[in-house]
Amino acid sequence: MKVLAPPGGMIGVLGGGQLGRMLAMAAARLGIRAHIYAPDEEAPAYDVADQVTRAPYDDRAALAAFAASVGAVTTEFENVPAQTLAILNEGVPVRPGARAVAIAQDRMLEKDFLNRVGAPTAPYRKVDSLEDLKKALAELGTPAILKTRRFGYDGKGQVRITSPEEAASAFAEMKGAQAILEGFAPFVREVSLVAARGADGEIRAYDLAENRHEAGILRESRVPVRGGAEISAVAFDMARRILEGLEYVGVMGIEFFALGDGRLLVNEIAPRVHNTGHWTIEACAVSQFEQQIRAVAGWPLGDPSRHADAVMTNLIGHEADSWAEYARQPNTAVHLYGKTEARPGRKMGHVTRVLRV
Ligand code: AMP
Repeated sequence: MKVLAPPGGMIGVLGGGQLGRMLAMAAARLGIRAHIYAPDEEAPAYDVADQVTRAPYDDRAALAAFAASVGAVTTEFENVPAQTLAILNEGVPVRPGARAVAIAQDRMLEKDFLNRVGAPTAPYRKVDSLEDLKKALAELGTPAILKTRRFGYDGKGQVRITSPEEAASAFAEMKGAQAILEGFAPFVREVSLVAARGADGEIRAYDLAENRHEAGILRESRVPVRGGAEISAVAFDMARRILEGLEYVGVMGIEFFALGDGRLLVNEIAPRVHNTGHWTIEACAVSQFEQQIRAVAGWPLGDPSRHADAVMTNLIGHEADSWAEYARQPNTAVHLYGKTEARPGRKMGHVTRVLRV
């Protein structure tokens, strides 16, 4: 396996958010420097980066200079333009590759791919017109969820439809964007798996986490999940099919709906480190962030075993103002992302409470 970033080397990260910040911090522990590329004037990852390029994602000259400065490039968000990855890949290995990112960007391509490799999803239909939506509703029934194919996150770009009469108003909310209708998954809980595939094809996965969302935003992830042994084996098998099917290199977050009958359906995949894996910083010898750096840099993957139980809670909007209270709590790690403006719904930080086992 070729080492693309040895100690003293540099990794490029597209995106300057908190995931980029935590990637840069994990890289530093391995003696690897981070070069962050993002269009924003200010961003959480800049504070901890060795180098920063502030430029648009279609600036060819800036991308070429960025590629020349690093041993490998990765991304901390899935909506990076496919063209950006293609340009970078002319000069430097990009991990994960453009195909994996393109599939994860589009809910329709994503679901087609998942079902093809044997990782089942909720039933879904393509919706490009109101006629399509009416037909899909007749086939899938209600409740159902209409989602934009691209650029949705934290529950944005989706509408729940509870009766066929709502078709026109729901369709109008898509504002002309291509969409899919998803049948409702009658889940009893939501779980997720963070898994990694190295450049040599080795696959390692963290323990499943159980997640709770509020208003479409992740509120809490906890490990271990209740009764996890059986669903863990199923989830791991699906992760292997997905990672191998994409010839993926790097860390991926896979969200599942766990149904009452024990089945798992994949909700979505994220071609990057994942909010539901933040607990790995405190509860594992090698965190998801270090794992991503290792995979991208061509290092051996680290041991993902968990040595403690943990609960991770996101600090959203003004909740982060209470940092001093969290800082007083026992067995609690406080993470603040350095964001100055606490807009409602914005992830400002998180806390992980480590429970002794
Ligand atoms: P998403 O942005 O697709 O992850 O959806 C955000 C949240 O909406 C999920 O975490 C679920 O709680 C809920 N949700 C999304 N799709 C479905 C579905 N097909 N069936 C039931 N709940 C869903």
